[in-house]
Formats: sequence, C-alpha cells, structure tokens
Amino acid sequence: ESGQLPELPKYVKVVEVGPRDGLQNERVIVPTDIKIEFINQLSQTGLSVIEVTSFVSSRWVPQMFDHAEVMKGIRQYPGIRYPVLTPNLQGFHRAVAAGATEISVFGAASESFSKKNINCSIEESMGKFEEVIKSAAQMNIPARGYVSCALGCPYEGSITPQKVAEVSKRLYGMGCYEISLGDTTGVGTPGSMKRMLECVMKEIPPAALAVHCHDTYGQALANILTALQMGVNVVDSAVSGLGGCPYARGASGNVATEDLIYMLHGLGIDTGVNLYKVMEAGDFICKAVNRTTNSKVAQASFSALGS
Ligand SMILES: [Zn+2]
Repeated sequence: ESGQLPELPKYVKVVEVGPRDGLQNERVIVPTDIKIEFINQLSQTGLSVIEVTSFVSSRWVPQMFDHAEVMKGIRQYPGIRYPVLTPNLQGFHRAVAAGATEISVFGAASESFSKKNINCSIEESMGKFEEVIKSAAQMNIPARGYVSCALGCPYEGSITPQKVAEVSKRLYGMGCYEISLGDTTGVGTPGSMKRMLECVMKEIPPAALAVHCHDTYGQALANILTALQMGVNVVDSAVSGLGGCPYARGASGNVATEDLIYMLHGLGIDTGVNLYKVMEAGDFICKAVNRTTNSKVAQASFSALGS
C-alpha cells in the first residue's frame, strides 16, 4: 500500500552537507551570522545530521575562516548530530575546543586528487587521519570517513573500484563508523556505482556505508537509487544543491536535499525530514548568497506558488 519497492530500506538517514561542502565550494564567502542562521533553520527541518564546517586553515579554504565562531554560535539541539571536518590533529583540537562532538576526515581514492586537494599523498593522509581518529576515540568522539573520487577523478579520470575499496577499508579499520563514498566530479552512472559498491561491500558492511553524489552529469538520483537497492541507507546531500562543482565550469554540485527527500518520500521511505521546511532553509541561503536554487523540486514548487 505504501508503494515501496521490496528491496529498499524503510528509513534513510540524510546527512546534510550544505553548510560545509556546499558553502566551501561557493564563490562568495558567506557572513558568519548567515551561516549560523542557516544551520539553525536546518535544525528545524527534522534532519538528524548537519555537517557544520571545516577546521581547515583559511589559507586553503577561505570560506571556512570562521569555523570556531560558527560551531560556537549555532544552537545544538538534542537528537541532532553536528559533525565537522578535521583534516589534521591541529584542526581536531580546535574543533573540540569549539564544542564539536563528532568529526569527519576527508580522504581520496585518487593519488593526484589527494596531492592537489589535501597537499599530501594518500599514504601521508592516512597517517594524519589515524592520529585524528585515535585522539577522537580516546574522547569518545565518533569519526566519519570520506572517500572522494570514488567514481572518477578530475585529474586521473577513472578510478578502479579496488582502489576505492582499499582506501575505504583502511579508514574503516582505523575506526570510522561510517564511510561516505563521494562521486566528487559527478561523472558516475548507476553502472559504475554498482561496480564500485560491489567491490567495496566485500570489505565493509552496507550498514556502514553512505553515498555522496554530485549531480554534475545529471546522474545523482539514479546513482543514489542504485545504492539504496544495494543496501545503502545513508545519503549525503546539500540544500539547494549548494556547492557548484569547482572542476567543471557552470556545472551543478551536490545533489539537492529537496530532490533527494522528494524521491525518498515518493518511494515510501521515511526520512523524518519535512520537505517544506528544507525548501524554506534553501530559499534563505540562496537569497543570502544571491544565487538561484539548483533543486528541481524547489524550482517547481516555488513556480507553482507563483513566486
Ligand atoms: Zn559534495
């Protein structure tokens, strides 16, 4: 009666990455008070995980210069988790000092991307992550691991599923409770998603996997549906599809949370998220950064309202 397909999960956890992944890749630098208001609005939508910021040097990522102020400034509601990205031990300690209780590390399955994006080889990055994850474990702080370039790399082109599995297994082995597999350039298709997941699932249980899809080639929702059918039940997304892809001019970035929620609810899958409230938060941030939404659902809904 729900219209739900038999292979799909009953509940999907949506990890909102707009305030970090999204705003980090927007051209404008958003004022601190706007970021705080944006995150507080997202806390009213039913989302259970909202990635807040990145404790990276503002020399590398000027958009995240105010990480400590944002972390301290937001209202943290019970039942909602507010992870932050911590690339190294220094960032980790700053994050904890600002009140972070959950962290993420951002690795890559591509050697060239690792060198250009996080300024070290995959091997060197693993050493840094191990220090961070160990320190986090000592403080009972959960750590999530990102594996970027899981379906392709802007410098190397294709990436083998074996490489993705290898990097994922290392992060999982270090103690990451969840591995988020990122299609950073959005080049993946349901075919490459399936091949990659089949390989990774030989090393990591589906319950510990998330997918992080970019919509650059218009494949994000199809890729996500493929992952759900294979047993993944955690999906990353960004309100309004924030975060235009820095590797492909004019291309869209993260899959829009509005579009993801619309699809999941249409499949009869529970998310706990109120779509209308997410669209309101999306409208707020789009006006603040002076851009139009990348969410098809928001576009259709607002035009139906005549606004
Ligand atoms: Zn992303």
